[in-house]
Amino acid sequence: MAKSNMDQDILKVLYTEEEIKARVQAMGDELYDKFADKNPLFVGVLNGCFIFMADLVRATQLKSELEFIGLSSYNNGVKSSGVVQITRDLQRDITNRHIIVVEDILDSGNTLAFLKKYLLSKGAASITIVTLLDKPSRREKAITADLAGFEVPDEFVVGYGLDYAQQYRNVPYIGVLKPEVYSK
Ligand code: 5GP
Ligand code: MG
Repeated sequence: MAKSNMDQDILKVLYTEEEIKARVQAMGDELYDKFADKNPLFVGVLNGCFIFMADLVRATQLKSELEFIGLSSYNNGVKSSGVVQITRDLQRDITNRHIIVVEDILDSGNTLAFLKKYLLSKGAASITIVTLLDKPSRREKAITADLAGFEVPDEFVVGYGLDYAQQYRNVPYIGVLKPEVYSK
């Protein structure tokens, strides 16, 4: 494997760089077909979306605009606190816009349930939820993704934008962290 002092903290690789690239391209193609005549507004959920968003919008090749929102329901732990906070608000009017939400992982659903309600309250014309990963086993809110990259088991995953305590976001694949790393 290539140079990295983070690989040693990974228990197993779930999806390789190559698998992610192929899946993101297929997702981009699907979005192109759906939104080619709509000038959609991609809204990425920071910080976890940053790598996926960068690859997805380049895979999509749609005339579109980008925006970000910062949301947090984690306090450096591995479990959602359930209370979602806006850490960085939208910087523009989204009235009547077709929104493509770009999220790293759909877990309990608290974050996206909150965001969907928030975007509708701001006048969005439609909301399409795109998530790289879906962990359906842990859902607490009745929310589903319109487009999901991969399903993952009930394990804490990192890489390709996903962090543990702000680290491991730059791991290029998606892997399961060794439990001893976060139970220290
Ligand atoms: P939810 O609100 O659906 O429980 O969680 C959404 C957020 O929790 C995601 O945006 C992500 O930041 C974080 N999250 C949930 N599961 C995982 C995981 O397995 N690994 C990492 N790194 N973050 C997760
Ligand atoms: Mg997130």
